[in-house]
Amino acid sequence: MRYLLFTFALLFSTGFLTAQKSGKTYTVDRVPDPKNRNSSVSDPDDYLSASDEAVLDKLINAMEDSTTAQVAVVVLYSIGEEVPKDFATKLFNKWGIGQAEKDNGLLILTVMDQRRTEMETGLGTESILTDALCYRIITQEMIPHFKKGDYGVGLISGVNKCKYYLENPNSISEIQDQSQSSSNKGGWLQVLFGHSIFNGIFNLLALVFVYNGLSSKQDAYDKYMALRKSRKWVFLILFPFPYIFIWWFVGRKMKELRYGKRYSKKTGAELRLIPDNEEDPYLEKGQITEEEIGVADYDVWANDNDAGDLLILRYSKGNLKYRRCPKCNYITYYNSHSQTIISPTYSSTGLKEVTNDCKSCNYHEVKRVTIPMLTRSSSSGGGSSGGGGGGSRSWGGGSSGGGGAGASW
Ligand SMILES: [Zn+2]
Repeated sequence: MRYLLFTFALLFSTGFLTAQKSGKTYTVDRVPDPKNRNSSVSDPDDYLSASDEAVLDKLINAMEDSTTAQVAVVVLYSIGEEVPKDFATKLFNKWGIGQAEKDNGLLILTVMDQRRTEMETGLGTESILTDALCYRIITQEMIPHFKKGDYGVGLISGVNKCKYYLENPNSISEIQDQSQSSSNKGGWLQVLFGHSIFNGIFNLLALVFVYNGLSSKQDAYDKYMALRKSRKWVFLILFPFPYIFIWWFVGRKMKELRYGKRYSKKTGAELRLIPDNEEDPYLEKGQITEEEIGVADYDVWANDNDAGDLLILRYSKGNLKYRRCPKCNYITYYNSHSQTIISPTYSSTGLKEVTNDCKSCNYHEVKRVTIPMLTRSSSSGGGSSGGGGGGSRSWGGGSSGGGGAGASW
């Protein structure tokens, strides 16, 4: 009897062990690299259909062609006790997602047993896909589908949104130019409330955005920033035409908030805006550099009767060439040089050297990145291999900036 029990126990435990061994719990090293199959989607437990994977690859390849940004989509059953955010950072850096010169990678990791999705961005991607935007994409584009078990649809919708933002980072300044030439057409009431009920709802939404921006916080700078954000959303969600008026109106309001009277929080005295050409003595070296290279504008407000009573406000300009310097923390860090040291061949990997410099503190970094082996596109028969974009793709050696966001579902 005892022997029988023992046998059962043995059977049980081996069964358990093999179940665990079957690859359902992944370490960073054991996640299959999709580039080995010329794909960007790693879904070893098959949560996605082959056609969804194909759509994802198509979107991601098109995005890489137009922006050079790289995206990896990873869906895993389990990573054990690991924290998804840490796992994402490690995997990102292990694969080297994004071009090494730009660090423009994005990893979307979904861990099934923890019901958790993380977006991890490189330093270069982060300037467009901010943490707040990542969170929004996960909660609005992906999670509603995940909850219904439509993982493929959720991921396609999320990747599609990322693609849109990465491909159109300058859309906001474009619409601004347009509004200047067409802001006087027709009565604005008609523009706002004409059309259908459908439009009416959108208009209402837009107004709610603007109202939120205006009423949320007390300080003019906070209001300015809130409006700037809502203005972006008015554009991104509610485009096109009728909203140009709102766009223009909010822009005027922002100007008022930025240059209107300002009082010291310390003394209540009225502050004076220091003219651009006289503000350097008030700013840090890194701030001056950011202004010089077109990364940000700084407004300096001073109290003429009290030199210590100073207000310095930063307005970023969304310059994509520069990233946050790992040493001085200003957005003054850029890829100054890249050079192939050893070209890859069909039988061996290559090597390239990527140099980054900081315009402000002169921090200098040289990293060496492996260039993957060349691979011939399949089809030995000589017929056409179908689906364009010939040749294989590989990760570009980018590293994670630690940005991004995650959400549970
Ligand atoms: Zn620096």
